[in-house]
Amino acid sequence: MSESVYKTSKHRTALLEILRTTKTHPTAAWLYERLKERFPDLSQGTVYRNLSILAELGLVRVLRSGKTFDRFDADVTPHDHMVCERCGRVDDAGISATPAGEQEAARATGYLVTSRRLDYYGICPDCQRSGDR
Ligand SMILES: [Zn+2]
Ligand SMILES: [Zn+2]
Repeated sequence: MSESVYKTSKHRTALLEILRTTKTHPTAAWLYERLKERFPDLSQGTVYRNLSILAELGLVRVLRSGKTFDRFDADVTPHDHMVCERCGRVDDAGISATPAGEQEAARATGYLVTSRRLDYYGICPDCQRSGDR
């Protein structure tokens, strides 16, 4: 899929800008609020549509979540995530698992591995500080 399929959109450009300046792996709702400051007449549908186009173009990675909202990451290089079980916050794990694991998994299953997603779950520093509730 080449970028020329979609005509350049100021909304999409702005979305990508916002995503590239945050490390928080925001939700679509958060991005909508930020973008609305610049484009007051923006609809939520526009944000969702542009996010899926960005994902299709490989410019954004979608972190799908079964139980909460999907989150978006402009860092499309392979990396793993930390997920807070209390507040749902997502951070980069800061370490990367070895590609050897992928090769081993491929050997064991006969799959051709095309991508990997590894999430660690736990309690983030903020939630740890706020005590057990
Ligand atoms: Zn937390
Ligand atoms: Zn990330």
